[in-house]
Amino acid sequence: MAAILLDVDGVFHVSSEPIGGGADAVRRLRAAGHRLRFVTNNTIRARSALAEELRSMGIELDDEELQTTPRAAAAALAGRRVLALTMHAIVGELEGIELVGEDAEAVLVGGADETPETNLVFSYMNLARAFHELEGGAQLYCLHKNRWWQTKHGPLLDAGAFVAGLEYAADVEAIVLGKPSTAYFEAALQALDADPGLTWMVGDDIDADIGGAQSHGMKTVLVRTGKFRPDAVEAGRVRPDGIISSIAQLPDWLEEHL
Ligand SMILES: [Mg+2]
Repeated sequence: MAAILLDVDGVFHVSSEPIGGGADAVRRLRAAGHRLRFVTNNTIRARSALAEELRSMGIELDDEELQTTPRAAAAALAGRRVLALTMHAIVGELEGIELVGEDAEAVLVGGADETPETNLVFSYMNLARAFHELEGGAQLYCLHKNRWWQTKHGPLLDAGAFVAGLEYAADVEAIVLGKPSTAYFEAALQALDADPGLTWMVGDDIDADIGGAQSHGMKTVLVRTGKFRPDAVEAGRVRPDGIISSIAQLPDWLEEHL
């Protein structure tokens, strides 16, 4: 039996529209005895809301099986004064962090979403405030550094662009809390008590999911859904162990390849 880390956005749904076969695949993987953990870079909703959304698609999971970046931030930044540029819906997840408007010890950049709230959070004023804090010595953290994500209307600019902009302006390097960071993958392996060499990462992001998991010694399966792009595979920088058309194929594929 394997430990399997499952990405969520682009694997089970795109913009909340389910990708066919996800619920059945999870049922079959569990029936086969695999240990599952859902690992998402989603920064838009609280964990309980994300888990509820997946259950509404028929996917069986407990809240505790879903690993999210805001909770990773809460663990990493507990007790510190933080200027947070994040979507409002996840602020409740940042338990134990003192959220401040000035004199911060750290700046935390979250991800963008599909609503006008993104315009407010990543306004010039807010980015200039973040820059000011970084200039004053605050450390830069981000929930992830993704360049873009896939929506039902096509690719949308993600918050990685703002993280890179702040890194450039303040001449600092951000600490990434979500995939592909070591801390995030290690937390997932620890939760499953899994050895990286016996663990599979399944995702649609060739860099954060596949490249990230490979550099931590895991095996990988890329799905051709969500943000999958044939060009990225053909470029050959990152080679997954398997490529499947969607999550629906995963149980059969693993049966043949484990
Ligand atoms: Mg994804």
